[in-house]
Amino acid sequence: MNSQRVIAVVKWATAALVLAGIVVVDRRWLHVNQTTVALTLLLFILFLAARWGLRYAVVTSIAATFLYNYYFLPPIGTLIINDPQNWLALFAFLATSVVGARLSERVREEAADARLRQRELEVLYTLSRELLQTENVAGLLNSIAPAILLVTHADAVVLYLLDGDRRYLAGDPAAIPMDEIGMRQLALTLPSADTTTDSTTATHFGQREARIPLHVGVRPRGLLILKSVHLSPETLEAIGGLISVSIDRAQALEDVSRADAAKESERLRALMIDSITHELRTPLTAIKASATTLLFHDPCGANALDLESQRDLLTVIDEETDRLDRLVSQAVEMAQLDAQEVHMTFVPTDLADVITSTLRACATALTGHELHQQVPALPPVLADAGYIEKVLANLLENAAKYSPSASPIFLSAETRPNAVLVSVADHGQGIDTSEQELIFERFYRASTQTGLTSGTGMGLAISRAILEAHHGTLAVTSQLGEGSVFTFSLPIAHQPLREPPASSGRSD
Ligand code: ADP
Repeated sequence: MNSQRVIAVVKWATAALVLAGIVVVDRRWLHVNQTTVALTLLLFILFLAARWGLRYAVVTSIAATFLYNYYFLPPIGTLIINDPQNWLALFAFLATSVVGARLSERVREEAADARLRQRELEVLYTLSRELLQTENVAGLLNSIAPAILLVTHADAVVLYLLDGDRRYLAGDPAAIPMDEIGMRQLALTLPSADTTTDSTTATHFGQREARIPLHVGVRPRGLLILKSVHLSPETLEAIGGLISVSIDRAQALEDVSRADAAKESERLRALMIDSITHELRTPLTAIKASATTLLFHDPCGANALDLESQRDLLTVIDEETDRLDRLVSQAVEMAQLDAQEVHMTFVPTDLADVITSTLRACATALTGHELHQQVPALPPVLADAGYIEKVLANLLENAAKYSPSASPIFLSAETRPNAVLVSVADHGQGIDTSEQELIFERFYRASTQTGLTSGTGMGLAISRAILEAHHGTLAVTSQLGEGSVFTFSLPIAHQPLREPPASSGRSD
C-alpha cells in the first residue's frame, strides 16, 4: 500500500471514530438537545471540508444524517420519522452540511490556488533575477538549466538550442532520455505558445514532463524540457519567454560592447596615428632642415657655416633623434601594456630602495631643484621594482620640467591600512581642473605646456597603466599657479621581504 492510500485510510478511520465519539458523548453523558447535536455534527463536517476536502465531508454528512435520525430524532432507535417537523430538521441538517462543506472546500481550493500562484510568481521572479544579471551569452547559456533546476525543484532540466545543436543539462541526465534528433524534431514541430506536459511520458516515468518551445519572434529557437515539475502552463510559458528574452538581452549587450570596443580601439588607433604623425613631424622637420643645411652649405661660398653653427646643427640632429627614439619606444610600450603583453613580476618590494635608485637615475633632471624628502619606514609593497622606478622617475622629471628652475620638489610617502601612498609635489604652474583627468590620456599635453616644454604626452598614460597592473592607482590634485601633487598607491605585501630575483623577467 502506498503512502497516499495509508493516509486516506487513516483519515476515513479518524472521521468515523470522531463521528461515533460525538454521538456517544452527546447521547450517553451530555444528554444535550437535538439542536446542539446537529450543530456539533455540522461543525465537525465543516472542519473536515476545510481540512481534508469535500469527499470526506459529504460522506461523513450522509453518515451523520443517519446517526442523527437513529439516535436523536423520535422514535429513537429506528430510522423512521413520524413528525414531519423532524423530516424538515433532517433535510435542513443534510443540506446545510453539504452546502457548508462545499463552501469550505472552495475556500480551501482558493487558498491552495493562491499559494500555488505565489510560489509560481516567486519562481518567475527568482529566475528573472538570476537570468538577467548575466551579460555574456556563453555564461548565460551555461547558467540557465542550473538556475531553472534550482528554482523549480525539477528533477532534471534540458535546454536545447537549434543553433549549433547545443544541449545544456542540469540534474539527473537519465531522467530525460531524449537525443538531439528527437529534441530538434520537437523544437521544430511544437507550435509557439504551446506548452506541452506529456502525459504518456508522465505515466511511463511516473512523473510529469513539461516541454516548452523557445522562439525568436515566430522562428523556433529551441526547446526546454523540465522533468517532474508542478507549475501551471502559464508559468511554464512565461519561463520560456524569460529564457528567450534573457538570451536576446545578453546577445544585444555583447553586440553593443563589441561595437563599443571596436569603436574605442579604432578611436585609439586614429589618435595614436594622428599623434605619432604630429609628434614625429616636428623632430623630423628639424633633423631634415639641419641635415640639408649641413649637406649643402658651401665651405668656400657665401653661405659657409662656421664650426660653431655646424656644431649647433649637429646638436639639433642629436637631440631630435633622441626625442624620436623616446617617442617610438613609449608608443610601443603603451601598445604592449594595452595588449597586456608586458610581463611584470610582483614581489614584496622595499619602496625605500626604489626611491633611492630612482633619485640616483634622475639626478640630472632634478639639477637646480631643492628636493625635500619625507619618507618614513614603510611596509613592503607588492610590486615590480623596475616598473615602479619608471613611474616615480616620470613624476619627478615632470615636477622638475613643469615648475620654475630652483623651485622645491617634495617627495613623501605614508602607510594606509592596505596600501602605501607616494606623492610628488611641486610649486609649478599647476593644471587646470578641466584637464586634470585628460593628462592621463595618451598623447594629451596640457594646453599651458604645449609648445613650451618638450614632451610626448605618454608618460602619465604609461604610469597609470603600470600602476593599474599592480592594482594600484595614480591621481593628481592641482591648482593653477600653485602647483601639483601626483600621488600613487601600491598594495601592501602581506609576506615578508625577500631579495628580488636577479632578472626581473620583464619583457619591455
Ligand atoms: P609629457 O611630460 O611627455 O608631456 P606626461 O604624460 O608625463 O607627458 O604628462 C602629460 C601632461 O601633463 C604634460 O604635457 C603636462 O601638460 C601635464 N603635467 C604632467 N606633470 C605635470 C606637473 N608636475 N605640473 C604641471 N603639469 C604637468
